[in-house]
Amino acid sequence: MSAQIADALVMGGLLVSGDNVTRADVLISDGGVREVGPDLSGRDARRVIDAAGRYILPVGIDSHAHPVYGDKMDTFSMCAAYGGVTTIVAFIGSETHRHERFGNTWGLRKYNPDIVKGFIEYAEQDSYTDFAVHGLVTIRDQDDLDQVIPDLVRMGVISYKVFMTWNPWVLDSATNDLAVPDEMVMRVMELAAHNGGLPMVHAENGCCKAYLETRYRSQGMTSIQHCLDSAPNILESEAVNRAAIMAQLAGSPLYPVHLSAREVVPVLERYTELGLPIFGETCPHYLTLTNDDLLEKGYRLKVAPPLRQNEDQDAMWQGLATGVLNTIGSDFTGYTRALKLTGSLEGEFVEPEPGHENIFEVAAGLSTLEHMMPVVWTHGVNTGRITMQRFVQVFSENPAKIFGIWPQKGALPPGSDADLIIWDPAKRHVVGQEHGISDLSTFEGMELLGMPVMTMVRGEVVVDDGRLVGKQGTAQYVRGDPNATAYAPGGPNVS
Ligand SMILES: [Zn+2]
Repeated sequence: MSAQIADALVMGGLLVSGDNVTRADVLISDGGVREVGPDLSGRDARRVIDAAGRYILPVGIDSHAHPVYGDKMDTFSMCAAYGGVTTIVAFIGSETHRHERFGNTWGLRKYNPDIVKGFIEYAEQDSYTDFAVHGLVTIRDQDDLDQVIPDLVRMGVISYKVFMTWNPWVLDSATNDLAVPDEMVMRVMELAAHNGGLPMVHAENGCCKAYLETRYRSQGMTSIQHCLDSAPNILESEAVNRAAIMAQLAGSPLYPVHLSAREVVPVLERYTELGLPIFGETCPHYLTLTNDDLLEKGYRLKVAPPLRQNEDQDAMWQGLATGVLNTIGSDFTGYTRALKLTGSLEGEFVEPEPGHENIFEVAAGLSTLEHMMPVVWTHGVNTGRITMQRFVQVFSENPAKIFGIWPQKGALPPGSDADLIIWDPAKRHVVGQEHGISDLSTFEGMELLGMPVMTMVRGEVVVDDGRLVGKQGTAQYVRGDPNATAYAPGGPNVS
C-alpha cells in the first residue's frame, strides 16, 4: 500500500454485507474503496469519519424509479440521498405523450434510444446521485423494435419494462395508455433472449382490469371501497404466470416488477424450479400498508397494483426472507395532489370529501423513496422478519447483480465505488414531508427506528446529518453489462 494520503477513512463501525457483519474500517481514495480491515487507524486520510456505534452499509439501489412526472431528477435524487439511495434506476422510454405533458423536453425525440440519450445527458447535469436506466417499451416502438433493443443494450440499458395493463384499445382514458399486446411482449422477450437483455413486466391482466373498471363505472361504483375489488389478486398472478410462460418459450429471463399479491409467490417458485431465471420485486408500501390504510387515508394511497390485505403483506415478507422475492423498489412517482386528481402538476382541483372521490379518475402513484429503507428496516429488521444481511442483499447486492452493475455498485469490497451509508440503528424519526415537491408523503406519521445519517456517492458525502451537501453536475450514468448479470452464464448468484 502506497503512502499516498487517502481521501477519507470511515472508522469504528460495523460493516454489513449480504454475508456477514464485521468490525471494519473503510479507506476511500479517488471515489473508490481502497482498503477494508478491522483496524486501519494507522492510515493517513484527509477526512476521518467516526462511525462508532453505527453500521456501515452499501447504499441502496432503487430498482424501480420514475423521476419524470412529479419529482424530476433534481428533487428525486435529493429524496434518494436523504433516504440512503445513491443509485437510481430510472424507467425511461417512448411514453412521448407523457413527456410532453410533464415538460420533459429530452423525451420528445422519436427513436426510443435517442430519448434515453437525452435523459442521460439531462440527468448527468441535474442529479445529486448516480443513476442507471431501465428501458420502457411502448406501442410506439413496434415498427423498429428489432433495432431499439440491441441499441439499448449497446448503451448499457439492458433491462426494459413493458406494461401488460392499461390497455388503450379498451379504455379511453389518460391513465389507460401504456399497455402493449401479448404479441409485442413476446417479441420483446425474444429480442431480450438474443441480446442479453432482461424483460420486466408490470403484471396485471389488462383486459380483465379494463372490463372490471368499465363495469364498476357503469354501475356508479367508483368510491375507494371499490379500488381493491376492481384489481383483484388473480389478475396479478395470472399475468406473472403468462409472462413466465412467454419468457420460458423465448428463452429469456424475467423480472416482474412491484409484486403485491400472495398468489404470486407459488408462481415464482414454480418457474424457478423449472429453471427460469425469474426475479421478484416488491415495494415498501406492499410490505407495510394495506387496503385498510387506503380506506382511512383516501385517494392519496391509490397505487397500481393496489394496496392489498394482511395475508398478502405477510406473503411478501416471507417471500423476501426465503429468497423468492429478490429486490425492493420504491415505484416513486413524486405525485402531488394536483397531479393525482387532475393528471397535471398545474391542474386546479378541489380536495374531494373523503369517500366522494372517483377512484378511477385518480392517478396511481406514491411518494415512497425517501423513507423506503428506514421503513423496511423498522418493520423488517427490527421485528426479525429479515436480517440486516438480507436487508443489504435486497436493497444493494441483488439489484446490482441482476442489472449487471455489481460489484462496482451494491457492495463495498476494495475496488468498488465508495457508495456507503452510515446507519444509526438508534435514531428515531417520525415521517413528515419528503424533500421533493410532493405534498403527499405516503408514510406520513409512521414512527421509524433506524435511519441513515450520512450518505456517500463515490467517496463524496451527499447528505450529512440531515443536510444536503452534495452538488449537481457530478452524477454518473452507470452502464449495465449483460455479461455480468445474475442471468448470464457464470454470472453472480442472487438469493
Ligand atoms: Zn412503476
